[in-house]
Amino acid sequence: MKKLIFLFTSFYIFFSITCSRGPDYYPGSINDESRIKKEVPKNIIFLIGDGMGLSQISGASFVNDNYLNLEQCSDIGLIKTQSANKYITGSAASATAFATGEKTNNLFVGVDVNGNPLVSIVELLEEKDYATGIITTSFIADATVAAFYAHVDDRYKHEQITSDLMLVDMEFIAGGGQKHFDQRTDGLNLIDTMLSNGYTVYYDYDDVVVEDSEKIVLFIAEAKPPSYADGRGDFLPETTRKALKLLKKNRNGFFLVVEGAQIDWACAEFDKDYYLEEMFDFDRAIEVALDFAMQEKNTLVVITGDHETGGLGIPAGDLETHSIEVEFITDEHTGAMVPVFAFGPGSNNFTGIYENNELFDKFKYFFRFND
Ligand SMILES: [Zn+2]
Repeated sequence: MKKLIFLFTSFYIFFSITCSRGPDYYPGSINDESRIKKEVPKNIIFLIGDGMGLSQISGASFVNDNYLNLEQCSDIGLIKTQSANKYITGSAASATAFATGEKTNNLFVGVDVNGNPLVSIVELLEEKDYATGIITTSFIADATVAAFYAHVDDRYKHEQITSDLMLVDMEFIAGGGQKHFDQRTDGLNLIDTMLSNGYTVYYDYDDVVVEDSEKIVLFIAEAKPPSYADGRGDFLPETTRKALKLLKKNRNGFFLVVEGAQIDWACAEFDKDYYLEEMFDFDRAIEVALDFAMQEKNTLVVITGDHETGGLGIPAGDLETHSIEVEFITDEHTGAMVPVFAFGPGSNNFTGIYENNELFDKFKYFFRFND
């Protein structure tokens, strides 16, 4: 009898081990596969802090009374950011990895190493009648958000990037760079194109009324938007709130990208106050996303950086005044891993250490493209 029990136990262990890694396996979920199947989000909010590494988060948290909203996230992982052709990635290659699941060369936007177009998560979702949106504190044609809708072999081809935007029917678009739409060398006026495609166009985030519109484009600057301190105000958190209100009208679900772009700019300029203000602003947008997720209970929030910028070091701080000293080792990006924070249904799929392009597969899995 003892022998029989032993035999059964051995079989059980054998089958548990061999059968546990099905096609739905993702890193970090090894002990919790039943939870994956139960918890599939309807919506995803993907927040990218450009240049936001662990030091950027550590410093901002400490100065902000030792707390950032992203600390509410239950599951945390790390991603490796290297591009296809360089140890140090650029924003275009990193965003292309997020958006398409393929590592590509620096400066490439939504194309593979040979320059062939890749299909982005936004394009896949638009085909299946989900709602999608992008919001950035940079210009709309800038690399990070462009990777979700455009296909060019040079991130600085802004006119081609905005032309590509006309082919993707996103419901919500917000950021700077109006000049890439209406002051073009080819003489086209893409704002007119968007109006005829059913968009309501706004030029001030306070004016946006989501009840009146099916699709919205918001321009906040001719070129680069100002910093938070120079008058951008609460554009990022408030526009995130409005976008969520619009996108949730879609019955299938939505995918929203929110970029805090100027964390990168501030670190490249070695400017501590600028970097902290931009981190706090991005964290207020995170708060809006997390509040929405807590209320709706069907929304996954994923927060990460595309790379670290500046090699930010914090050699000293003051416990009394909650202030920090900073040093930067470069005005470029660095090769350090960056953290991923996840909250909501399916968040446990984001733990562990993995490559940046694997985020795409996780997003895609939740939208049931394999069904
Ligand atoms: Zn970047």
